[in-house]
Amino acid sequence: MTLSTPLSEVPRVGPVYEKRLKKLGITTVGDLLFHFPRAYEDLRNVTSIAQAKKEEGNVCVKGRVLKIRKGRTLRKHMSLVQAAVEDDTGTMQVVWFNQPYLTDTLKEGEEVYLAGKMARGSASAYLSNPAYEKAKALPMHTGRIVPVYAQTLGLTSRWLRFMVSGILQNAQGLSESLPPTLLQERGFPPIVKALQDIHFPNTPKEAEASRRRFAFEELFYLFLFVLSERKKLAAAKAPVIPFEPSLLQRFTSSLPFQLTEAQRKAAWRILKDLEKPRPMNRLLQGDVGSGKTVVAAMAALSARKAGLQTAFMAPTEILAQQHFKTLSLLFAPFKLKVALLTGKSDRWTSPKLPREPIEISRKKLLEKVKAGDMEVLVGTHALIQDKVRFGNLGLIVLDEQHRFGVRQRAKLQAASRKGHTLLVPHLLSMTATPIPRTLTLTLYGDLDLTLLDELPQGRKPVLTQVIAPEERKLAYKAVRKEIQKGRQVFVICPRIEEKSEIRNTKYEINSKFLPSLEVKSVKAEYERLSKEVFPDLRVAMLHGKLAQKEKEAVMRKFQRGTIDILVSTSVVEVGVDVPNATVMLIEGAEHFGLAQLHQFRGRVGRSAYQSHCFLFTESSSSRAASRLKALEESSSGFELAEKDLKLRGPGDLAGVKQWGMPDFAMEQLTNLPLVEEAREAALQILDEDIRLEHYPLLKEKVEKLRE
Ligand code: ADP
Ligand code: MG
Repeated sequence: MTLSTPLSEVPRVGPVYEKRLKKLGITTVGDLLFHFPRAYEDLRNVTSIAQAKKEEGNVCVKGRVLKIRKGRTLRKHMSLVQAAVEDDTGTMQVVWFNQPYLTDTLKEGEEVYLAGKMARGSASAYLSNPAYEKAKALPMHTGRIVPVYAQTLGLTSRWLRFMVSGILQNAQGLSESLPPTLLQERGFPPIVKALQDIHFPNTPKEAEASRRRFAFEELFYLFLFVLSERKKLAAAKAPVIPFEPSLLQRFTSSLPFQLTEAQRKAAWRILKDLEKPRPMNRLLQGDVGSGKTVVAAMAALSARKAGLQTAFMAPTEILAQQHFKTLSLLFAPFKLKVALLTGKSDRWTSPKLPREPIEISRKKLLEKVKAGDMEVLVGTHALIQDKVRFGNLGLIVLDEQHRFGVRQRAKLQAASRKGHTLLVPHLLSMTATPIPRTLTLTLYGDLDLTLLDELPQGRKPVLTQVIAPEERKLAYKAVRKEIQKGRQVFVICPRIEEKSEIRNTKYEINSKFLPSLEVKSVKAEYERLSKEVFPDLRVAMLHGKLAQKEKEAVMRKFQRGTIDILVSTSVVEVGVDVPNATVMLIEGAEHFGLAQLHQFRGRVGRSAYQSHCFLFTESSSSRAASRLKALEESSSGFELAEKDLKLRGPGDLAGVKQWGMPDFAMEQLTNLPLVEEAREAALQILDEDIRLEHYPLLKEKVEKLRE
């Protein structure tokens, strides 16, 4: 058995479990071994039955089964197994619900471990639904530190423990991918021991040491990848794009507003980078509404002047559409041909009629792009396909780059190398999501950073309020008032449809994991608002399951102002620019991260009108309340990102997800000393061996990250 052995070949997994595991992305032995426990339960302390009967909480006892029999509960008619268990100090009653097979598993006279919660019946104390295990085997579920895995439908911790321990017994041959010196220097446990200890530790310390090793390892590979990319890029050549003051002057005076000081400075930095024969790799970070698009446009205009094309990539269809429109208008006076290529439809605009896009076939468009005839190509992920070849690509702009990963960025720059030119294009990434320092070091270790830390003049901060359920009417009154003034409103819901899959209670359940049944859906909310609350207003809905044409039509209408209220999922989260919208109403706000809520809020407050953000929550937890409070108090994306990082961990932030980095390693992204240690170690190795020729296993890991 090796790490890559498929689980279908592992005895006792079987097709049913294979399918359940696959849902979690677990298909090989390695995947299963690297599915680490979420927590541990310390059941090392085995008490006597006499003692256990005095306890209130969780206990673990060892005893002999005196009697065991099946029954049914009186009222709900649930299956029930009752047992009496004794040790030298006394006898206790044990009850299991919905596990009738237990009378076959546990026989009278057998020694067992039982771990669970003491309950008080009318007569005496009994053990309710405990974990059980025969005492003769090495304990796995009781009598030791027990791993607890994340709960999923039909996949219990008990089953996972059983499989993992079986596999671990055959794991001796696993190869170690960390260099031995590195293990020694840091005192990390070698791979087999580390896996053993992370699943079945003898002490909390052992688990901790393993976790540290694995987190270090993930960060280390990440750094090897990011830093080697950076070194390669630093040695590459890029086309020189000269700085053209008079052209830029003409451009800025064509705008209906004055650039902010921050925009001016950021543009200057970027244009200076473009003059160099080395590929720029810069991140422009500015809060929502700070005006990043025009800054990027200045770079694209300069590229065109130098005879080079620009690729402008956005994370969503809606956003790509919007950029296409904006850029067509901005560039029309300068006679640029702008085209749009997305997964769904292609078109372009002639500078003479920038408001009237012309449909074009994919084949034709690709030809024109290859011939260098289209000067700015806007698009979604569709832009990274191999089929897309640029005649003369000089600049890539990546909007809302936290939506892409470092990998995709690398691919973009590499892909364009396949064109006629051997030069690597410049890369400008943009994001509104502030990145905490540990992440700048890791995921963004390969980027230079420019801040856009000023909003255009005349913007009023969005007034944000968490609304209590009983004040819903007042919020709707405010909505109506805004619409009467000619403004528009967004309503965001956490899901598209009403709740469908309620988890099956047959399996281990924990109320914490049951999704709230109150989560608002776009469809139901749309029905309610359009029929009951605002029957006289123009209400529409937008979500990912609508056909592309429908989505576009709805967005167009909203942009033109012929829709008053747009009920939507998070598809409008990033970048959508409708300055006339002044109310952002968010249902089930506790389901979103702070950074994401801040993004939603950024959809309004884009004009001189006073805007409002209303947050509704169904949750009464104080943690949810304090998170939402943070939004009321702060209008700075930076502050909120730091808070989010503290409250929720880095998982929701800035492109971490795109890495597919396991949770346990993500948790460590906020651990600055560990991050720095991993970075140091990666640098040391790259300094002596940039291609990792002497480290075939490391090389393999890094190549995997590139895929
Ligand atoms: P973001 O940084 O969130 O991408 P956008 O580039 O979409 O922001 O700009 C937000 C809005 O502000 C747009 O309508 C844009 O035309 C406008 N804008 C950009 N710069 C300025 C400025 N200096 N003064 C006034 N409005 C501006
Ligand atoms: Mg934007």
